[in-house]
Amino acid sequence: MRLTLLLLLALCTSVSAQKLSPAKAKVVASIDSREGKLIDMSDKIWALAEVAFEEGESAKILADYAEEQGFRVERGVSEMPTAFIAEYGSGKPIIGILGEFDALPGISQKAQPTKAPLHTGAAGHGCGHNLFGVGSLGAAVAIKDAMDRGEIEGTIRYYGTPAEEKYFGKLYLARDGKFNDLDVCLDWHPSAKTSANVQSSLALVDFVVEFRGQAAHASSDPWNGRSASDAMELMSAGINAYREHVRPTVRIHTHMQQAGDVVNVVPDYAKYWVRVRDSKRDGMIPVWERVKKIAEGAAIMANVDYEISLVSGLHEVLVNRTGGRLLQDNMELLGGIEYTPAEIKFAYGIQKSTDKEQVGLDGSVQPFQETRENPGGGSTDVGDVSWLVPEIRLGVTTAPVGTPWHSWAVVACGGMSIGHKGMKYAAKALALTAYDLYQQPETVKAIREEFETRRGDAKYEAILPAAGPPIPGKKK
Ligand SMILES: [Zn+2]
Repeated sequence: MRLTLLLLLALCTSVSAQKLSPAKAKVVASIDSREGKLIDMSDKIWALAEVAFEEGESAKILADYAEEQGFRVERGVSEMPTAFIAEYGSGKPIIGILGEFDALPGISQKAQPTKAPLHTGAAGHGCGHNLFGVGSLGAAVAIKDAMDRGEIEGTIRYYGTPAEEKYFGKLYLARDGKFNDLDVCLDWHPSAKTSANVQSSLALVDFVVEFRGQAAHASSDPWNGRSASDAMELMSAGINAYREHVRPTVRIHTHMQQAGDVVNVVPDYAKYWVRVRDSKRDGMIPVWERVKKIAEGAAIMANVDYEISLVSGLHEVLVNRTGGRLLQDNMELLGGIEYTPAEIKFAYGIQKSTDKEQVGLDGSVQPFQETRENPGGGSTDVGDVSWLVPEIRLGVTTAPVGTPWHSWAVVACGGMSIGHKGMKYAAKALALTAYDLYQQPETVKAIREEFETRRGDAKYEAILPAAGPPIPGKKK
């Protein structure tokens, strides 16, 4: 039974490979020949698990490799020590590929299917950005190889974009015009399925409200006190009442960050972090304005001062179906991802540990989807890039079906062969698609026409604090 299955798999693989033209087979071979190095870099970044704007070692691993491969590397771009741009070739077209490499705090995990931290309390790659950063660079290097063979001409540019999980590094690159001369840009993201991503994301804005009152003894002279935490509670009540009156596409998240230290002091300081989202930036802005008024109202009621500081905001992704279709064609050429019995067993283990049905992995190429008007899900700083240049987006299986994202389970898979296979697949799909873009000016033109039509007259305006990126340890 197993033998038959293996034979069948072998047959499927050879059928897929035959569909590749000799030129495309060479692009795929470029990535295969570097498999060991790509996995080694990914595992190193996985183990380092550096969080937003602290990804010094991770960024260095990627930038050093790009430099070794002959790319021109500019480090510390746009006031961010861990941002870099690596470029190869010259002239048009200029194709960009985005990479991320930041981890998430508190979810350190070993590469095993039961929960056990690698380092207690440390960060972990719960969004698979170790794979993301390396897979994208693998694609860029395969394009460089094709340029060296004299098959294609133009520029390939890899963006090392830090702090996607917090602070949104791409916004500062966008602010400085770093994407403006690109013809087309590509990215991918780890996922529980493999598809050309033609869904948008949610726009968001992040801001912090600080309330300042007057401390006093909570019992002997409370009339001398003005409570900052009262204001925060009133603001919370105001937001919760308001939830009934927002559109279903809106999300409002709050986090009480500080509210005094002890029960017998009237707190004179409170800090409240608020995030407003909507499927469209235009829908998010009036909600943001209203929540600011709720802050003002709460401050008036509690008779305290208040101050609002903008963290940053994101645009929703501007979808490009023409680009998505080109990617889909290349994914179908590659075929899906196949797994070994050991990998399927690992997936069952993850599903058992996270109370999910034990259905294993889905590495098949999903059919090309309709683009939904109001998709659910999260937000990404790729959204901002997509308003400046047409963006082609890929999702690749790096974890079993139903895996809770941003959790230890994703960390576990990102440090072993399930994640590695997804990363390699992403490198190949992106490289083949980019390869087509160099050879098909008419497709680039069609992609740009769709981009212009969808963008219309909208003028891109980044939502950013004037102070620049909040780099840890930076003087204000
Ligand atoms: Zn992510």
